Order: sequence, then C-alpha cells, then structure tokens
Amino acid sequence: MHHVKQLINGQFVDSQTSEWIDLTDPATQDVIAKVPQTTDDEINQAVAAAKAAFKTWRKTPISTRARIFLKYQALIREHMEDLAQILTAEQGKTIADARGDVFRGLEVVEHAAGITNLQIGDFVENVATDVDTYSIWQPLGVCAGITPFNFPAMIPLWMFPMAIATGNTFILKPSEQDPMVTMRLVELAVEAGIPEGVLNVVHGGKATVDAICDHPDIRAVSFVGSTNVGRHVYERAGQSGKRVQCMMGAKNHAVILPDANKEQTLNQLAGAAFGAAGQRCMALSVVILVGSAGDWIEDIKAKAESLVVSAGKNDRDLGPLISPAAKARVEHLIQTGVDEGASLLLDGRGIKVDGFEKGNFVGPTIFDHVTAEMQIYSQEIFGPVLCIMRAETLDDAIDMINANPHGNGTAIFTQSGAAAHKFQQDVDVGQVGINLPIPVPLPMFSFSGSRGSKLGDLGPYGKQAVQFYTQTKTVTARWFDDAASQGKVNTTISM
Ligand code: NAD
Repeated sequence: MHHVKQLINGQFVDSQTSEWIDLTDPATQDVIAKVPQTTDDEINQAVAAAKAAFKTWRKTPISTRARIFLKYQALIREHMEDLAQILTAEQGKTIADARGDVFRGLEVVEHAAGITNLQIGDFVENVATDVDTYSIWQPLGVCAGITPFNFPAMIPLWMFPMAIATGNTFILKPSEQDPMVTMRLVELAVEAGIPEGVLNVVHGGKATVDAICDHPDIRAVSFVGSTNVGRHVYERAGQSGKRVQCMMGAKNHAVILPDANKEQTLNQLAGAAFGAAGQRCMALSVVILVGSAGDWIEDIKAKAESLVVSAGKNDRDLGPLISPAAKARVEHLIQTGVDEGASLLLDGRGIKVDGFEKGNFVGPTIFDHVTAEMQIYSQEIFGPVLCIMRAETLDDAIDMINANPHGNGTAIFTQSGAAAHKFQQDVDVGQVGINLPIPVPLPMFSFSGSRGSKLGDLGPYGKQAVQFYTQTKTVTARWFDDAASQGKVNTTISM
C-alpha cells in the first residue's frame, strides 16, 4: 500500500503518525493510498525548515528564482500525461478535464517564471533636493497554502510558485482526499531546483489546518475551499496576525437572453453545469431564463440527457463525485428540492455505471421552478444539479443574482452588446463571462471572486498574488556630496 509522504527540509519522509486516512478511487472505492495526519512535531519541523531556508532564499537573486520556474514549467509539460492519470485515479474527473486541471496550474508556473517583470518597486528621484524615495517589495517569510479536493493540481499551483518566486518559503497542506497528484507536482518542483526547506508539505485535515493558522512563524495563509472552513481559517489565522486570503464557496448564475445563439449557449451551459460532476467553484449551477428563453427547457434537458457518466479514466463526459459522503449529501439536497416543491425534470440519482457499481455517481439532474427559499438554491450543492429560474427582464435577473450572497462567477448569453455591457456593469459578482461559461482569468489577471465567495482583498495568483506575498518597504535616501555644506541641526519635519 502506498503511503503518501511529507516533504520536510528537502526530504520526502514517512510520517510517524498513528492516524492514517484512506485515499479511495471514487469510481470503485478501492483504497489506493494512505494519507498521514501529520503530527504536531512534524508540522513544527516543516515550519522550522522553512524559517531557516528563508534566510538564504530571500537573498537568492530574482533571476535564479525565475529560472527554477522556467525549468519547472518544462517538467510539468513533459509529465502532463502521467500527472493527468494520477489525478483522475484519485479525484475521479475525466482524463481530458484532469489535463485541463494541470494546464491551468501550469499557466501560473509560466507566470511565476516571469517574476523578474513583476516584483518591481517604484522610484522617485529628488523628492527633496538630493533625496530619492524608492519602494521595494520584499517577501514576507514562511507562507502556507491550504487546498481543496476539486482541483488538486491547479490550486496548489496557484499558491506555492508565486509565493516562492517572490522569495518566500512555503508550507503546503493539500486536500487529504486527493494529495497524490499534488505530491507528484511537488517532486517535479524539487527536481526543477527548489532548494531544501523552501517548499515543505504536510498532510491531514482540521488538526493540520488549525496548527497552520496558529503557528507564530507563519506570516500568511492562502486558503481555497468551502465557505464554512474558509471563514474559520480567516478568523483563526487572522487572530494570530497573519495575512489571510480565502477563496470559498459559490452559487454561480447563468443568464440566457432570448437572442442568444441557442446551440452554443446550450452546449456551454451543459458543460459548465455538469462537467466535473458539478464539482467546480465556477460551475454554473443556476440558470435564469429571461422572457421567451423560458421555452428552452426541453432543449436544456436533452443536452443533459446526452451526457455520459462513467469512471474518469474512461474519459466520457462526467465522472463520480469525490466520496460516498459527497454523493449522499448531493442526493439529500436533491430530495429537499422535491420536498420543497421544485419540479424535478431530470433525476440523476440511482444511476448505474457498468463495471463501476460502487462508484459515487450522480447523473445530471435538473430542477425547474426553483425559488430563492429552497435549499437547492440557498446551498452550494457541488454536484451535477442545475436549478432553473425565470425572469421577465434582464434587470430582474441582475436583481436576483445580486440578492444571492455569493459572488464568485456569472455568465450572460446574448447577441446584444448593450445587454452584455449593462450586465457586466451592474452585476455584483467578481468574474463575469460574456458568452463564456467559466470565466476563470489567466494569470496576467487574478482570480477575483467577491462578496460571500471571498475573504481578504487580494487574489491567489496573478498581479494580486505578488502583492499578497510581499510587503512594501519604502526607503528615503540622501547621499551627501563631499563638498556639501555641513548645514546645521534642523528640528522641523521637512527634509
Ligand atoms: P473543504 O473546505 O472541505 O476543504 C478545504 C481544505 O480545508 C482541505 O485542505 C481540508 O483538509 C480542510 N478542512 C476541511 N474541513 C476542515 C475543518 N473543519 N477545519 C479546518 N480545515 C478543514 O473544501 P473541499 O470540499 O475540499 O472543496 C470544495 C469547496 O471548495 C467548495 O465549496 C468550492 O466552491 C470551494 N472552492 C472554491 C474555489 C474558489 O476559488 N472560490 C476554488 C475551488 C474550490
């Protein structure tokens, strides 16, 4: 049985813990590895290694740091196929989607390789006679990242490359539900030249997360996961004075206007609602049909029915949910929808997949006539369930979205530039797609979820991550010419 290792001070080591978590294949329930609940002592060792490594890493030339990420991106490309296979085996998503998971992380690594163009301060000459002021963006110290199960390649890569490229050292805590692809990525990072102690990995659940939040030598925490845990991390890590950012749960609405290109819109809606079995923080889980677009119900249903559910390795349209508990939760929420009066147009419960009878499968599910009071609307389902709502006008649709507490993503489908422009301006959501269902920005921008989907001001990658992982020091300098007059004591504030 494979025991997932920790990375402490450059060594991949077994944990001394007596507590091991089963890592199961979501399509079969086969236990494929054991994940340690890292001990307190091991967490302290990892933080001590990171603290010691920071002393030299912060002074390592920025171009040297950048070159490691140039090599790292090449290694990830070279190993793309085996990374995708590992990811699918433990997480369940299709191979094509697993490649996408790795690729979207790779883009952040490529961006980190350009750190020499990003970590640049300001300089103003002669703020007073012979006095210059400049700001430098210095790394914080030991930073930490806590990641969710749904993107076990992309989200760790949102975090440690930018943190390390900016001169910090790092403690990564991957999801205990699927840390194997994350560990393979970490092995490649070490192979690319990340020195010992600069990147460390610890494992486990709440105990590890709480230890990270409390540790006095950790300066910043980046968290991606559910809303309840994110709020806990924000508060707990904030209490010990850390800089914290939390990207959390969502309820993302698509708005379809009657003039939208029907075939493209339906394809994109089905892909974004049911792809990855709905386990994406940017999944479109609600669609608001405006005016006569309300007649598209049967077409939406037909698209959903055309999707094939199977084990991820069979690479069909959607795979299993991550765990039996996740499946039970999704099925329970579907039942609440029925009980609370929504019309169940398509029921994905009880689906059987040949050869994978024990898998955590739920098929595409659609509810019509959903209201804001229902639990299927007020909760993030995180399964392949689409809620249909209606609005008479675009204004009504925008009001509905703005009344929802979440603000991660949204998308409008229309051929009208004026309507799209109004939507982009008035909707209070951090990431807006126009005829594009999952508008996750590339790293020349930053992930910008907002309102209830985010705590902290700065995003986890892109320009905002450079700010998150650095602190500004402002230096004001005067160099006296030998011939300068000696002057006299000046007790005023002026320079
Ligand atoms: P989760 O909150 O259960 O787990 C996230 C991390 O927190 C894991 O590393 C886990 O070990 C740890 N954790 C779990 N329970 C904890 C507890 N009680 N105390 C302390 N730590 C705990 O999230 P998940 O189920 O792995 O991921 C799915 C969630 O993540 C969804 O809500 C999804 O919307 C969200 N997500 C958000 C984004 C975003 O960018 N906004 C991206 C991906 C996923």
